[in-house]
Amino acid sequence: MMDYRRFGRTELQMSVLSCGTMRCLDSQDQMTSTIAHALKHGINHLETANGYGESEQFLGNTLKSLDRDRFILTTKICPTPDLKEFRSQLQQSFDRLQVDHLDCLALHGVNTFDHLDWIQNGCMEIVQDYVKAGKINHIGFSTHGSLELIQATIATDWFSFINLHYGIFFRRNEPAIVQATDRDMGIFIISPGDKGGLLYTPPDKLARDCAPLTPLAANYRFLLSDNRIHTLSVGPANPNEWIQPLDSIQALDEERQIFDRLDDVLETSLGNDRCSQCYLCLPCPEDINIPEVLRLRNLAITYDMDAFGKFRYGMFENAGHWFPGRKANHCTDCGDCLPRCPETLNIPDLLRDTHNRLTGKPRRRLWQS
Ligand code: SF4
Ligand code: SF4
Repeated sequence: MMDYRRFGRTELQMSVLSCGTMRCLDSQDQMTSTIAHALKHGINHLETANGYGESEQFLGNTLKSLDRDRFILTTKICPTPDLKEFRSQLQQSFDRLQVDHLDCLALHGVNTFDHLDWIQNGCMEIVQDYVKAGKINHIGFSTHGSLELIQATIATDWFSFINLHYGIFFRRNEPAIVQATDRDMGIFIISPGDKGGLLYTPPDKLARDCAPLTPLAANYRFLLSDNRIHTLSVGPANPNEWIQPLDSIQALDEERQIFDRLDDVLETSLGNDRCSQCYLCLPCPEDINIPEVLRLRNLAITYDMDAFGKFRYGMFENAGHWFPGRKANHCTDCGDCLPRCPETLNIPDLLRDTHNRLTGKPRRRLWQS
């Protein structure tokens, strides 16, 4: 099952794999079957560029028969000093794609400071005209440029997403990831399989070093275990080339299913008594560590982690600053915490319940017992 992430402040819910169409250039059939395979597997972000030969035309012909809300569409246009040429390319992309609006338009290949100047000196104004006309929803940029250029481009605050190189074998752009995250930008990684190290055909040594993962899966997992990263570009030339990328996120999918199951059980076991661990109830005048007490209750009830609960609960008042706070039976029902709890929990009742469940022999820290 495909996973989806919020693409920064665009608020788009984007699949973690994106379908780049720069290699579907041989025929209309090739494009249509590759896109159909992507959509069937839950990939909802389709990406092209004005400069990718017939890609936009083929993609547009494919999209004609699809509901517009089934996909998020991005195309990219290179900035040019000639604004007439830029405007004409932008219009050409719309004509080829045959859509009334683009979800995302990226200024393509902001690779030099000249490119940034051209954007500032007119290209952005043209793009903004399209935004005002409701034809472009979000503006971003793609780059193969230096970190300094990327940081300067992000700092303009003109862009709500970025398409850049980053991965396990290329970490130079990490400060740009930090900067883009601070601005709540969507973060889209350029081709981690191919441009990230030719990982579809790795050398034996690299394959051994990545075992039990494949090098491709290792790079995908490196990237997707980082919540700052939202989506990775895959550029299959045909449906068969989806196999490796989709297999590579299979383990991630299994992990996510486990985490979802743990969350679901927590929700259903505790119902309206679930402490969400927001910590807003503190401070308690009796110095009860309410969230930690209720976390132990959550775990004991949900997952039968009574032994763990008793072990940790027994440390209150016995482990000093290593495990601060007093036991739940010191609650005086003063009610101070109640209005601060967004879950409207009956905190004193839950504290008493926890104390009854988890009281046992007092415990000190390991080397004190
Ligand atoms: S009601 Fe109990 S837990 Fe809440 S603030 Fe008062 S003493 Fe602390
Ligand atoms: S305010 Fe309520 S939900 Fe939040 S930590 Fe305290 S008891 Fe739990």
